[in-house]
Amino acid sequence: MTLPLNPQRVSVDSISKIKELSGENIKACMQCGTCTVACPMAEEMDFFPRKVMHFSQFGMLSRMEDINSYWKCASCHSCSVRCPRGIDIAKVMESLRLLVLRTNKNYIEPSQIPKEKLKEYPGIMMVAGFRKLTS
Ligand code: SF4
Ligand code: SF4
Repeated sequence: MTLPLNPQRVSVDSISKIKELSGENIKACMQCGTCTVACPMAEEMDFFPRKVMHFSQFGMLSRMEDINSYWKCASCHSCSVRCPRGIDIAKVMESLRLLVLRTNKNYIEPSQIPKEKLKEYPGIMMVAGFRKLTS
């Protein structure tokens, strides 16, 4: 699962794209780490939200290839309401997912889900997952 837009180097284009998609001023992040402390999914992530913000504000898409942080984000906004700089980190996470999904790549493949699991999983979970994790 790779992120597009000059993935081999720090990219001004990448910073602009994340800002455009999220609508957030990612440069305002002062790396205080409050978002990580507030995040209920942080322990599941390859890199904590603070680090994802660091990579984002410097356009370091190459550091975010194949990491699970923005996929594991539950969009709970716990970080966003606590950020002292007023950044909606959940929107930044969403923008990173969109960068991948807009290249027609899926994080989960519906066709790969075993049939026995399809019977077991709640329908609302499946719909939410497909909306968020497929292109
Ligand atoms: S809480 Fe806000 S300012 Fe602090 S690290 Fe997270 S995004 Fe940056
Ligand atoms: S919105 Fe995502 S990154 Fe922010 S606290 Fe919730 S799970 Fe963590």
